Amino acid sequence: MEKLHAEKQVLFRGASKCNIAYPLEFIYPSGFPSFPPTVICNVPFDLLLTRHHSPDTKVLCCFGFNEERWNSSYSGLDVFLEVESLISDYLPGTRVPQHDLVPEPVVKYFDYLQNAALLIPPPFGKLDYGELRKYPYANIRLNKYGKGIVVSLESKGGRISLIRAYEDWFHDTTIYKAKVIVAENPPPSNAATLTDWLEGQGQFVGFRNQQISYYLIIFPDEWGKRGLTRPTWILIKMSNRMPSWIRCFSINDEDTMIRNPSFSSLKRKKALLIGAGSVGSSVATALAQEGIGELTIIDPDIYEPSNSIRHQVGQSWFGFNKVEALKERINSLSPETIVTPLTARVGNTRRNDNEYLMAEIIRSDIVIDTTGSHSVTHYMNSLCMDIGKPFLVGTVTNGAWSSEVITICPGDTGCWICWNMQYGMEMPPSEPMSNLTFAPGCNQPTFSGGVSNIIVAAGFIVQAAIDVLLKKRLAGQEYLVWHSRNKEGERSYGIECKPITKHPNCNHCKRT
Ligand SMILES: [Zn+2]
Repeated sequence: MEKLHAEKQVLFRGASKCNIAYPLEFIYPSGFPSFPPTVICNVPFDLLLTRHHSPDTKVLCCFGFNEERWNSSYSGLDVFLEVESLISDYLPGTRVPQHDLVPEPVVKYFDYLQNAALLIPPPFGKLDYGELRKYPYANIRLNKYGKGIVVSLESKGGRISLIRAYEDWFHDTTIYKAKVIVAENPPPSNAATLTDWLEGQGQFVGFRNQQISYYLIIFPDEWGKRGLTRPTWILIKMSNRMPSWIRCFSINDEDTMIRNPSFSSLKRKKALLIGAGSVGSSVATALAQEGIGELTIIDPDIYEPSNSIRHQVGQSWFGFNKVEALKERINSLSPETIVTPLTARVGNTRRNDNEYLMAEIIRSDIVIDTTGSHSVTHYMNSLCMDIGKPFLVGTVTNGAWSSEVITICPGDTGCWICWNMQYGMEMPPSEPMSNLTFAPGCNQPTFSGGVSNIIVAAGFIVQAAIDVLLKKRLAGQEYLVWHSRNKEGERSYGIECKPITKHPNCNHCKRT
């Protein structure tokens, strides 16, 4: 009655009929029957049902993924029968029924230490059981909370170390030695039987007070499709015979690219990015997260407080070169992206710089200019047209009310000069020039506008770049212009894609 009055919910309490060890609470919300009832089954961790029982909330997952099978005509009896079938089919330790199509690994159901996690970087996650059995010890770096990384596997004969991209991670933490156990089955999830289990694996669990030992357990767990397994890791910290379970996370493409598998070929592509300002930093981080293999970033500036509200780099980097700070940021998001930061100004006529830049353009699959500087764009356009390299120009207007993305594919489309002759007189909406702000110490106006519009602009630039890299570009849509306000500054959205045709008077395009 209390729940009914206070929360407009009806609550029933009882226990499973088929297994009395499972207490049940059915909570019918006010939205019933549009919304199904929530069923809570508050059991100890070792009684959690496999796959269909949340370890945190103890809620049973009824009626499939996102309750897709729920139907508003179902009665209370239908709900009860669903619950009873879960309790009889998914008891811990039994095999999951064949009709269960949503694989959820066993490893999810341990009572893990909060805010602790051990990362398994490459190459360890790729090793098979046979290779793993050769290494009885691991060196792990852990901070005081139990957050860390595996740095090497060791045997008397040799060692395997983590790949270079991860060498700096947790570098100021303590190194511990862990015993590696490759087991046939997952370790038990309760303290009472764990010590016996470890001793059954040939491990002597010490009695001495204060003694802390680490066991890195590797076992097969279901992943991907029903019936497929892969090596899965758990770290057990044993302190005075009291264990805690620390969850391990393998870092590999199989997991990280699972939501974007079609972009896996981006790993073999390289982009040259000119400009590491607000737009450039968002483009760089997004390209890295999309999976690009290599990025060279050129910018002469240092990172200052006025940059920070719309830049992807943290405030601890004030005073550092933007490109160096951005490399750190990218590598925290995507450690295996190869980033080459170059502190340099583009458009400089000194011959050596030009040769270096030419070599970078030749090595790249695409050149992206986010400087918003006409002289830089002019210069890069002529180099890219000479070499025959796809060239992308991404800019935002003052106030970031609108953004433009110009995709130039030498031979197929007009170039930046052609674009200027075709569209140079049509200005997309922008904040009035009187609102330009001047950074102290220089007479260069900087454009205003916040990070939300910058991210939209960067998103369009990155999508255009990926279309070029994966050869999915649509002919006749080389010039994209997007705006979020009209010329009066009122909210108004619009987007257009137009062709860039070769202009008969363009010296670059006459030749192509
Ligand atoms: Zn041209």
